[in-house]
Amino acid sequence: MVLVAAGFYLGFPLNHPALWFSSALIVCGYFIFKIFYPKDKKPLDITGIFLSIAVVSGGLSLIHPWAVYLDIPLAVASSSFFGAQVFGPVWAAIVALGARDMILHRPGAIPLIFFSISSGALSHLALRRFKALSSGLSEKLSLLYEEKSGAGLSTGDVDVLGAAEKEFSQALLLARELLEADTVTVFRVSGEDMAVKSSTSPGIRLKSEGIIRACLKNRQPVSLSNIDRKEFLSAGYEHGEPVCSLIAVPLILGKNLLGVAVCDSRRVGAFNLKHVSDFNRFASFFTGMMGRERVFAEMKRSLKGLEVFEEESSRLLKHLTKVDVANEGTLGARKIAPMANAIFLVSKEGYELSAASGFSGISAKKNFHIFKTLKGTLLANAFSGGQEPIYISDFRNYPVAALPFDAGFHVKSVLLQPLAGEEGTLGVLGMFSDRTNSFSAHQIELIKMFSNQLSVTFSRAILHEKLALMAKTDALTGLFNRRHFDETLSAEFKRLVRHPRPLSLLLIDIDHFKKINDRFGHPAGDSVLKTVSAIIKKLMRDTDVAARYGGEEFAAILAETDKPGAQNLAERLRKAVFLVPMEAGGQAINVSVSIGVSSFPRDTDKKEELVELADKALYSAKDEGRNKVCLAKKTAV
Ligand code: GH3
Ligand code: MG
Ligand code: MG
Repeated sequence: MVLVAAGFYLGFPLNHPALWFSSALIVCGYFIFKIFYPKDKKPLDITGIFLSIAVVSGGLSLIHPWAVYLDIPLAVASSSFFGAQVFGPVWAAIVALGARDMILHRPGAIPLIFFSISSGALSHLALRRFKALSSGLSEKLSLLYEEKSGAGLSTGDVDVLGAAEKEFSQALLLARELLEADTVTVFRVSGEDMAVKSSTSPGIRLKSEGIIRACLKNRQPVSLSNIDRKEFLSAGYEHGEPVCSLIAVPLILGKNLLGVAVCDSRRVGAFNLKHVSDFNRFASFFTGMMGRERVFAEMKRSLKGLEVFEEESSRLLKHLTKVDVANEGTLGARKIAPMANAIFLVSKEGYELSAASGFSGISAKKNFHIFKTLKGTLLANAFSGGQEPIYISDFRNYPVAALPFDAGFHVKSVLLQPLAGEEGTLGVLGMFSDRTNSFSAHQIELIKMFSNQLSVTFSRAILHEKLALMAKTDALTGLFNRRHFDETLSAEFKRLVRHPRPLSLLLIDIDHFKKINDRFGHPAGDSVLKTVSAIIKKLMRDTDVAARYGGEEFAAILAETDKPGAQNLAERLRKAVFLVPMEAGGQAINVSVSIGVSSFPRDTDKKEELVELADKALYSAKDEGRNKVCLAKKTAV
């Protein structure tokens, strides 16, 4: 108003060209300076540009009266597109700089001035009306926002994520409409980079540098109204249209950077402060949606993980042997984290690879590996450490090997989970990936839980195997007991019916054992029993089953052995017992055995008869003077 009054009074610029020139110079200079060295990113320089044009056109109209026509588009443009802070000074400048002179010297121009101001005012009114409509949209947005924040996500609905995606794109369209933008896009942080999450325009191409990346990096909103002027900064993406104005807002949830929301326009100075604040509200809506999507996805993953865990755990419980548990264990672990894995168990000889999956050339079933030592591998640390898992997200430059064998790929991340037994670590479940950082916190947690289950099942399998062995072993001699012998013979006969193969039976009895007992006492007798058992065990093959049949009687089932073979073995056994020096009560004693031999199918094809015939042969051996092998005589059928 001061400017307008001064203009009327002083009659700028006609009466004071020098003053006008110097003030025009100051105004233009100030705004040109502001354009090149902007302090902030608000579209204030637009005011300067329009004001400068108004000042220049005012002066120019001294020399070229037509220059006053510039006022019309100036007034219309400033009223239509910008707030009072822009069109106010421009109108004031028009009136102050030119109107008085025009009114005094060219009365014909009065309608022109009137037209320019009134069309500007009309445009401004039209804009306000439009903004009133827009604020309706803004209310809609508020509703949308409140609805969403109160609603929560139902985990039971499988298509929740799909529906959320739809709502997200609707919100983008709404933002575009409200802000009169060309394109609204939300970029999502994905790993180390960014990707388009959703956009109102197809075919967005991300660039490696630009405003949106700077916005993401600095975690600060950016609002620019004339990007072409600032050539050193490009938007950082393209979609076919030029981008002159842009608002970019980082989407931050707590400490997490989720992405960037951007709206752009090909118009210069398309966004004012109201737009910026509206878009910020949209941005917080986007942040909320994306946060919930994240939580939902995480919940879904957790649920899925727990389902897998539960399923695999119950599957584990069905197995009773170590081998079965190990095989099921590797399968289960693979379902939780799909990568190569192996289970190592402490064994008598060192460490055994009980099961493995995902290694080229190494399979648990085919290759049974025993490692005397794991020295120089990370596994050794897992066996000697506590119960906490060892997780190395980047194993590339680690000084030791991950495994005691070649994995067949470059191991880049490792998770070793010790399996706890009653007497310390009983084994280790190892997971090996050809990628770095390949385990999520959730997977590590699930593997830990799964390993607890695995440990318990292994402990149970070990105990079960121990008990099963005890149940079929004779405590004094370590040979199998009579029950196991009977069971094995029955099982063998069942098999022989289908696949007839030779099988022989030895019944072995220590000669005059009673005398040893009587002379040297029971403990001496026990010691002789142990020595004879050890000799029997030593001479038997792995496939043979040697058992303590009675007090000082032994029996052996010789698989795949015909009568001459059995006789041969019996003779060797007899000789061995006789020749091995034994002592009782401090003096050397002679111990001998008598052996009866019978064979399937040569002597009989019946189990009971086979035993009977061997027993008869044994009696024959006793009769014939002991320390002897006698063969069963064929029975007439
Ligand atoms: P033969 O040559 O005819 O077989 O004579 P023997 O004395 O070996 O046979 P007999 O059946 O008369 O005696 C078997 C003895 O074995 C009787 C029993 O005291 C003894 N015996 C049975 N079980 C054990 C045991 O676990 N420990 C000890 N020390 N002796 C046992
Ligand atoms: Mg006997
Ligand atoms: Mg005897």
